Amino acid sequence: MKLQKPKGTQDILPKDSVKWQYLEKVSRETFQNYRYEEIRTPLFEHYEVISRSVGDTTDIVTKEMYDFYDKGNRHITLRPEGTAPVVRSYVENKLFAPEVQKPVKLYYMGSMFRYERPQAGRLREFHQIGVEAFGSKNPATDVETIAMAYQLFETLGISDVTLHLNSLGNPESRKNYRQALIDYLTPLRDKLSKDSQRRLEENPLRVLDSKEKDDKQVVEGAPSILDYLDEESQQHFDTVCQLLKALNIPFVIDTNMVRGLDYYNHTIFEFITTIDKTELTICAGGRYDGLVEYFNGPETPGFGFALGVERLLMILEKQGVNLPVTNVLDVYVVVLGDVVNEAALTLVQSLRKQGFSVERDYLDRKLKAQFKSADTFNAKIVITLGESELASNKVVVKNNQTRQEKEVALNELEENFASIYKELTQGK
Ligand code: ATP
Ligand code: MG
Repeated sequence: MKLQKPKGTQDILPKDSVKWQYLEKVSRETFQNYRYEEIRTPLFEHYEVISRSVGDTTDIVTKEMYDFYDKGNRHITLRPEGTAPVVRSYVENKLFAPEVQKPVKLYYMGSMFRYERPQAGRLREFHQIGVEAFGSKNPATDVETIAMAYQLFETLGISDVTLHLNSLGNPESRKNYRQALIDYLTPLRDKLSKDSQRRLEENPLRVLDSKEKDDKQVVEGAPSILDYLDEESQQHFDTVCQLLKALNIPFVIDTNMVRGLDYYNHTIFEFITTIDKTELTICAGGRYDGLVEYFNGPETPGFGFALGVERLLMILEKQGVNLPVTNVLDVYVVVLGDVVNEAALTLVQSLRKQGFSVERDYLDRKLKAQFKSADTFNAKIVITLGESELASNKVVVKNNQTRQEKEVALNELEENFASIYKELTQGK
């Protein structure tokens, strides 16, 4: 019996989920400033939504899909990425309608599933935070979306990320380049890995993306796609470079970068960091002007990116960035004996309803153990409740750091704890 989690998955426990929450919060706040709104799509889709749009010959579709036939014999796949589902939804919900403000800017956060060989920063269920902007051809859209990711990294305190930039041009430019690449690679076929020999036949640009050492050597001398851009493509690329410079965002042009998905054209980019001498992409994206039409929507340019949450957290950890996630508790109630169990319950509920975070003892523990818990939880205030306090209707409310204390009537706590809390935590 297998009673452990499946290979390549993770439990996110409270000590980590606070970091996830922080990351999600900063992302939401950043995206909101660019007028992005959240979209939530299903965790699974019809196989066809992913297969042709992401590309029938890509690793994602040929090797990594979690697909199955459901009880109604429909071919279903867990989503391996976010863009195709969002485009599907954009068209299905007619967000292209004239009354919807353009560009339509959407973001998502959630699980993605790929059947990969698990290793550091590579999981079978992983999480992406991604954005998609529909309806703007303006290179300023490319650049401000890249800038938004850059700003997010800055806010989080990540250093040493390099922006890698390339252009795939429009379909016409890419066709010309494709032929030039075939002409270059065909005589060198024997030096390529088995996978890349297949790629050369099916999708030669994919060879540039290979992680095999031998392939990397071969492609070093490959022609550059930038030499095959037509005027329109060249102009778009030049403007993107110029606008990045205007915003002082450093970048390197990386002509061998092609991305693992087929739907891109013009601008593509990756933010790469180095961990233990290996390069790791934390965020990747680009322009996909044909994708909405592919889903039978009207001609609509698109631009987006996805960042890998696990990789981002890994880098924060490696770089020793401390996220501001320390938990504090407003009040800990020390409960002395079972006789005050009900009074303690009434008290904590009253304080919580007044908006304070409150914990108490439930286990009839010794005084010392309860005070220790108060420290562990970083409680700001400790209230001690026993039989005599109940009888006299008076409790001691104490600041757990300064030890400053005050005797208060129980019913006063239940009526207006806020002023007592303020007095004790901010001094008078
Ligand atoms: P790679 O070349 O590393 O396989 P990819 O091109 O397949 O990446 P994308 O599909 O562009 O990746 O996904 C965007 C981001 O999502 C990646 O840059 C990475 O941060 C993250 N990511 C992709 N696959 C995984 C995975 N299996 N586990 C964890 N994070 C992932
Ligand atoms: Mg991959």
